[in-house]
Amino acid sequence: MNKTKPTFDVKKNPNPVTGEQRELLLANPGWGRVFTDHMVTMRYSEDRGWQDWRIEPRKALDLDPATSVLHYALEIFEGMKAYRLPDGGATLFRPHANARRFRNSAERLAMADLPEDLFVESVRALVCIDREWIPSAQGAALYLRPFMIGTEVALGTKPSCDYIFCVIASPVASYFKGDGPAVTLWVSENFTRAAPGGTGAAKCGGNYAASLAAQAEGLREGCEQVVFLDAVERRWVEELGGMNVFFVFEDGSLQTPPLGGTILPGITRESLITLGRHMGLTVREERYSIDQWQEDARSGRLTEAFACGTAAVVTPIGKVKGRTHGFTVGDGKAGPVTQRLKAALTDIQFGRADDKHGWLDRLF
Ligand SMILES: *Cc1c(COP(=O)(O)O)cnc(C)c1O
Repeated sequence: MNKTKPTFDVKKNPNPVTGEQRELLLANPGWGRVFTDHMVTMRYSEDRGWQDWRIEPRKALDLDPATSVLHYALEIFEGMKAYRLPDGGATLFRPHANARRFRNSAERLAMADLPEDLFVESVRALVCIDREWIPSAQGAALYLRPFMIGTEVALGTKPSCDYIFCVIASPVASYFKGDGPAVTLWVSENFTRAAPGGTGAAKCGGNYAASLAAQAEGLREGCEQVVFLDAVERRWVEELGGMNVFFVFEDGSLQTPPLGGTILPGITRESLITLGRHMGLTVREERYSIDQWQEDARSGRLTEAFACGTAAVVTPIGKVKGRTHGFTVGDGKAGPVTQRLKAALTDIQFGRADDKHGWLDRLF
């Protein structure tokens, strides 16, 4: 059955990208378009469990057209980063938190359970073999994308008996161009992201597919991101398509919507709650309505707001627009509390500050 420490069958890429080409790619990687030389794959079948653990040259997956993921979106994923440290080493950030969330996502979609150690070892193994791909430019990192798909070849709607778990890696610059300029949000009134009892707390591709019409609407309105309201009352601010949200008040306190099944439990969110409290700030996990947000932004009671997640780290929210809303947050730029929290988090991730909370998982 499942061993917890996998031994991978390692097949090195016989034609890796040359050092010179790699340096060129790393100089301007963009976001999620450049990939490393290798990938991890593991297969699961109901009778044999997880088996066939491989590190191999990155290549296309060969799928039968009746494979369940292609029809019923049996897909979950994670997003994490390997960070280059000042001494040339590298680290992951809270990888066991990703592994735990991956198990929770799998449970929600009735997919195979992947032991946490297998998940973490896979990610570590890929970063180690592709270590040359971890960028060292300011704010850049090696983004890791572990994911699992249902691979049973059958059109019947039932949980899949077979799965592939895969990890790929992509060097990334910061998500938004420049060093985190403030974004404009579109308040989605036509679409919601997640309903009670749904899959909002699972990191699954289906949630993203369902959010893209709102995203397209937002883009047409000149906004970079969408903020979703709760599906029941259409008043409470939940989160962005792929980022959690925080509010900063005049009295220096912070607030973020509470988890409750419709919000993705972000690891960045949880880390910032901890860091904020360590700075002596009051941090509330309480509902906040879009009308209150507008009123407080206009009165000055609310001074800053930001979005957060692994990909874009901490991103200031400058303006909010919607059919019945429109306001600027603070002076429309990154505020001091936002900048302080971002610095506190990234200083730990990049090894510039003491890892007081034991969040780093040093690789080499
Ligand atoms: C991944 C994700 C986040 C952020 O989670 P982190 O663990 O902080 O990266 C927030 N919202 C959604 C919908 C997500 O998919």
